Formats: sequence, C-alpha cells, structure tokens
Amino acid sequence: MNQKVYELIDSYRDEFTAMLQGWIRTPSVKGDAESGAPFGRDVRKMLDRAMADAKSLGFAVRDFDGYACDITLGDAEEKIAVLGHLDVVPVGDGWTKLPFDAVIENGRMYGRGTNDDKGPSLAALFAMKAVRDAGIPLKKSIRMILGCDEESGWEDMEYYGAREKIPDVGFSPDASFPLINTEKGMLVQELRAPAAATGLKILKLSTGDRINVIPGECCAVVEGGEELVRKTEAYAAKTGLPYTAEVTAEGVLLTALGIPGHSAYPEGRRNAIGMMLLLLRELGAEGPVATLAEAVGLESDGKSLGCACRDDVSKALTCNMGILRLENGEWYGTLDMRCPVTADQEKLKKETAAHLPGIRVTVDTQKPPHHVPADSELVTALLASYEEETGLKGEPISTGGGTYAKVLKQGVAFGALFPDEEDLAHQADEYEDIDRLMLAMKIYANALIRLAG
Ligand SMILES: [Zn+2]
Repeated sequence: MNQKVYELIDSYRDEFTAMLQGWIRTPSVKGDAESGAPFGRDVRKMLDRAMADAKSLGFAVRDFDGYACDITLGDAEEKIAVLGHLDVVPVGDGWTKLPFDAVIENGRMYGRGTNDDKGPSLAALFAMKAVRDAGIPLKKSIRMILGCDEESGWEDMEYYGAREKIPDVGFSPDASFPLINTEKGMLVQELRAPAAATGLKILKLSTGDRINVIPGECCAVVEGGEELVRKTEAYAAKTGLPYTAEVTAEGVLLTALGIPGHSAYPEGRRNAIGMMLLLLRELGAEGPVATLAEAVGLESDGKSLGCACRDDVSKALTCNMGILRLENGEWYGTLDMRCPVTADQEKLKKETAAHLPGIRVTVDTQKPPHHVPADSELVTALLASYEEETGLKGEPISTGGGTYAKVLKQGVAFGALFPDEEDLAHQADEYEDIDRLMLAMKIYANALIRLAG
C-alpha cells in the first residue's frame, strides 16, 4: 500500500481514539420508539453523534429517519459497501469496569460497543478518510451504511433498502479476521404456555433481555420453605453447578449462576436459564417448565429438541434460550437457533414443536444462511489485504453469528477481531486494543483500495 496512507493513518491515532471514546460514552441500547427515533432516544443520540463526526471528517452524510445513516466517498455509480452498526446490546452482568466510560488501560479501551461494533466501524470510516486524504483515485465509490438495529430486528437495513439501493458487493467490519464467508441460517422461535396448575408453584421468574445473549444469572421465587433449600443444596452438590437458595418473605429465592456469552458461540458457556429449568424440575415443577427442562435444559446443540445437525462448511447447529419469563400466569421464552447451510429450517420448526408438547411455538425471525465462495474476487482481494498488512496466512471461516454481510449479494464479514484475541462481544468487560484497531484501519484502507481503486 502507498506509504502516504500509512503515514496518514498513524497521524489519526489521537483523533480516532478521542472520537471513539465519544461514541462509547453515548450508550445506544435499544429503547422505546419516539418520533424520529425508531429505536429510542439513546440510539438516536448515537446516530446524531456519528453523523456529526463523519461530517466533521469531511464526508457527505445522510440520515434515514433514525434507522440508519450513510456516508459516501466518491461519486461513481458503482459502489462498494461497508456495513457497520451503532446500537449495542445491554450491559449485562459481571463488569469490573464502567461500561460506558471508555477508560483506557494498558492500551485497551473498555466499554460496551468498543468491539461490537463502534470500534471497527469507526476504524473503517478513518480508513475511508485515509484513502481520500492520500488522494488515491477510485473507480468505484465507497458507501458506508451505519445501522441502528443490528442487535435486534434489522429493521434499519429493511428501511434503508426500501429507500436506497444497497450495493451488491462489500464487507461488514463486525466479526473477525481473517474473513467470514459462511454465516449460518438463523431461526428464532417464541414459546408460550400457561403456567402449570399442579406441582411446584413458581411465583416469579424473569430472565434475559435479548434472544442472542446467553444469560449469566437466573433467579426465581417459588413457594416453599427450608426443605427446598436443602433439596437445592443437594442438587448443587450432585451436579457440581452453582445454585443457591434462601428463604425470604416472598418465598424461596433460587439463583443459578451460568457463564454468559453470545448465543452463537456456546462453547465454554453455561446458560443460567437452562440450569434453572433443571433445578425447578428437580424441585417438583410440572407442565411447561418440566417440558423445557427435558427438551432444552443445558444443551446448546438442540439434541433433545430433535434439531441437532451439522455440515463441513458451517459446523454444528447451536441453540440458545435467551429469555424466559413468567407473566400473568403465562410462560414466555425464546429459542435462537443458528443453522448449518445445509439444514432444512422447515424441518427444524416441525421438530421443535413436536418436542415441546403443550407449548405454542411461533417463528419470530428466520434468515437463510449466506455463503460467498472462497475463490471469489471479493474473498481473494480481502484476504490479500489481510495477509499484506499482518504477514499472517488468511483462510476464510464460518460463523453462527449473523452480520450485515448477508444483506449484500456478495458480502463477507471482515474483522476486526484478530485470531489471537479473546472475543468479548456481548460480554462483560468488552474492550478493544487500540494498536489492533489501528492495524485494522490499515487493513481496511488496503482493502478499499483493492476493491474500489
Ligand atoms: Zn455487531
């Protein structure tokens, strides 16, 4: 890559770091819709900040009514897309740093959104700036689209796509390097059932904010006394799992401690809702709770739901219960399945319903899998940029995480997590290493020049 581009990128470091801190200090968790703010006022504030910053960097910026914005470099008709997002998942449990302070320690910036996806998105924007400031001539223009609803329903891209043509080719800096060319399909189902009239009486249970998060803690209040405390302690001893129980004025308070994470990556995690279902069944719960304990429990592969499957390109199906609530005598829960490219989602729906008798199962979200061949021009160009800037070998990989890449006909996820880095997206103490983000910026600049130059 042109030496001038490297020098420019190095010179942006302080400005980039300060701007990213401003983004992290603007919490953008989805809230109630308001006029001009379809995902709540906090997300709107973040969008306004990002647009103002992009303008201050000299780019043409357009607001799509609070759903998304686009930022364009060049005026050629043919465009390369860069798709990022400004919304973040809720904070969740277990933080040792302040989640919206953007504190920097040992070269790492901590905060919700540093890695998913504000840091990588802003690095890509500065890469656009470097390409422009270096005066590199472009045959195609570059269009960055920053959405506001990636962590929920993707209504942002739907809204944008209904008003503006989304380019055919591009990448989303919202996952990992080297590059993800295969994304599993997604099947989210909602579960509803009346609470059982018999068995253990459950008074309270409400866990989980998001379908795509593995909950780290689940509490329930049930009717009973000391006997349940003893049974819980015996079950904890038998299973080796961290359960606690205590008698309170309301009833017996039960707690299950899981290991939180992202629903698409269950390895090494433990779903606290699944733990609680098993305990409740042990303590005498009947009806939907016993059914869910049997068919889901602590499994993350969908086996007892009759849904376990795998293929070589995309590996195994994963399944996560992110939400379980008891409201007005009715249970509500969610199952988030990430399905291999070859899986038959219609069959998965039938199997789920068949394995959950007495529970009404409806489809909330369904997305087909996405695959761009490893020998395509897009994949080979991006991997060449990665290899040139890192000196590492680049092989395409598969993920259960869904990114905006699948909004594009030819789209892949590209960075910004490096292979040796810990993935803390959606988890406590999320951070980004600033040196790594600066390296990502160079990779993105290199890639934009290859794709658009
Ligand atoms: Zn993301």
